[in-house]
Amino acid sequence: NQGPVTVLGLGMMGTALATAFVKNGNATTVWNRSAGKADALVEQGAVFTAGIRQAIEASPVIVACVSTYEVLNELIGGAAAELKGKTIVNLTSGTPEDARALAGWAEQHGVRYLDGTIMAVPQMIGLPQAMVFYAGAQEVFAEQEELLKPLAGSNVYLGADTGAAMIYDLGLLSLLWSSLAGYFHAVALVQSAGVSAEAFTPFALTWIEHVITPAIPRSAQEIDSGNFATEVSSLGVNKAAIEHLVATSRQLGVDSDFSAAIQALIERRVAEGHAGHSLASLVEAFKQG
Ligand code: NDP
Repeated sequence: NQGPVTVLGLGMMGTALATAFVKNGNATTVWNRSAGKADALVEQGAVFTAGIRQAIEASPVIVACVSTYEVLNELIGGAAAELKGKTIVNLTSGTPEDARALAGWAEQHGVRYLDGTIMAVPQMIGLPQAMVFYAGAQEVFAEQEELLKPLAGSNVYLGADTGAAMIYDLGLLSLLWSSLAGYFHAVALVQSAGVSAEAFTPFALTWIEHVITPAIPRSAQEIDSGNFATEVSSLGVNKAAIEHLVATSRQLGVDSDFSAAIQALIERRVAEGHAGHSLASLVEAFKQG
């Protein structure tokens, strides 16, 4: 689908999105608060409009990617008349509530709305390994699926709840930040023993491959079945081990808050009588809030 498209927002991500459309041969109109960021795109064939209303009028589909929903709400709040009957595909990151609220605004104003979130860095846009999650009315996704193909190898529709893309996004970010923070904490510990990050890293990668990665599908099975009986490693054993981690971090002057938070979850589950259960049962501690 080489139909016309407008991209609102030419930050790092918006520029990558607009570039992918231009390369695919779509007639691409772009708008950004700071006009200078459009120069390279205009050289490649995009059309820049200084006014956001003109940019919206130029195409039936508007792809938005600005820093936050607050910014986007402000930008399009005054352009409801121009947007009426058109489709917004919003690839700005935020919360599920942000997404549902904007979908509600769109419905009130006769605007078709598809929420989305990009699970890639700008350099991956257009490549097979890039993944974009979409959520909202299925018919809007079906109408725009072809148009959106140049952005990513995987375009995954998650369902009619407009908040779904943001929930997946936040879940995967939680995984990203906590797993990388675990690695950084580990490096801070081994550096105290004079070991460099690069010397430690092959061991970290082996640990991820043979211990952490297989634990994820195994945990999923336990969580979905509600059966946390384990022959691998019990919460009771982990409770004793994490005490060593917290104590050693403190003794070395390495921040221990991160491990202490996990320790608190383990201790709560053990106190509730789950010492014999697997680590996967911590999901219940998270759900208790
Ligand atoms: P940038 O900081 O590079 O760009 C931010 C964009 O928002 C710019 O177009 C900026 O305009 C615009 N903007 C900010 N405030 C205002 C305002 N008050 N009025 C008008 N425009 C405004 O961010 P990214 O492009 O990296 O990120 C954009 C979205 O994409 C975010 O929601 C981010 O979470 C998401 N994303 C980014 C990824 C990444 O790796 N970069 C990965 C996945 C998602 P101006 O140029 O004028 O400042």
